[in-house]
Amino acid sequence: MTTPWTGHALSTELETALAAVRTAGLLCREVQASLDPGALEKKDRSPVTVADFGSQALVCKALGEAFPADPVIGEENSAALRDPANAATLERVTDLVRARVTDATTDDICTWIDRGAHKEAVPRLWTLDPIDGTKGFLRGQQYAVGLALVLDGEIVLSALACPNLGPALDGDRGAGTVMLAIRGAGAWQVPMDGEAAAVPLRVSGEADPALIRFCESVEKAHSSHDAAARIAERLAIRAEPVRLDSMTKYAVVARGEAEAYLRLPRSAEYREKIWDHAGGVLVLTEAGGRVTDVLGRDLDFSHGYRLEENLGVIVSNGRVHEAILAALEELEIGRF
Ligand code: AMP
Ligand code: MG
Repeated sequence: MTTPWTGHALSTELETALAAVRTAGLLCREVQASLDPGALEKKDRSPVTVADFGSQALVCKALGEAFPADPVIGEENSAALRDPANAATLERVTDLVRARVTDATTDDICTWIDRGAHKEAVPRLWTLDPIDGTKGFLRGQQYAVGLALVLDGEIVLSALACPNLGPALDGDRGAGTVMLAIRGAGAWQVPMDGEAAAVPLRVSGEADPALIRFCESVEKAHSSHDAAARIAERLAIRAEPVRLDSMTKYAVVARGEAEAYLRLPRSAEYREKIWDHAGGVLVLTEAGGRVTDVLGRDLDFSHGYRLEENLGVIVSNGRVHEAILAALEELEIGRF
């Protein structure tokens, strides 16, 4: 099938990334479908742990085969999984991975996971969040598998699987979509399963800040809801915030269902992790949007696993970006 990226210099990277996040997303979906509804109350994080390791193993295996020289900065490593006290977890991860890679051994799985344990900046690297939005995953809501290729500190390719996001944002369990982007070539949406053609993504054209909808984390520990409410008041925004877990917030802005995503720091100390953003940023900018930190600085992916030189994240359709930055400044948000 001809795709918008057929013939592009990064088409092999894109096809590999797409297949990898799809397979990983389907593993996550299988685990989420088997969640005991009481899991959250019991504070049992083991299902998300299993899916997290399984997802990282599958993606890193695929990247290791296609691009053996490329390091991967991923969220997980296998240290805990190799601990004999966690043998049951390793067994569950192995069963899930073997359903997709029949001859995988426990040792293979730990080795694949550790391909993703790189931390430092190098000229060419991948970054992976095997499950972003673990709280959403456990609540039966939105989560994502985010993967990006970073060349000389710049994201050039992203693949973001959103296994519960439908073709439109309409609740917690949609059919699943994958967002894709190549720098300078565009951003597209394809279904989680099947062969449907890629649909180009475009941000909303809304230019009146009062008329926007904005996304924020469900978890107020990750982004100040109070500060966002003050921004909303200052800009006379009437719509309620859209609370979503994970990088699906980038996807929702990229396809024009909301105009902004505010991630407002609660302290001067926290540094965002590159895997929590890289899968979403290029999808958004290639769809016509803009991303900065709360002080208006570009996100700088050249410092290894953290966004060392940034504070918080502001995502928008571009047209309302300056108004949001001005409100942040007036209200002294992010000025600690
Ligand atoms: P979200 O689903 O948007 O709430 O973001 C989930 C991500 O927030 C996780 O993957 C964590 O890496 C990240 N996170 C953890 N603690 C913080 C914090 N204090 N501030 C911002 N993000 C955080
Ligand atoms: Mg994450």
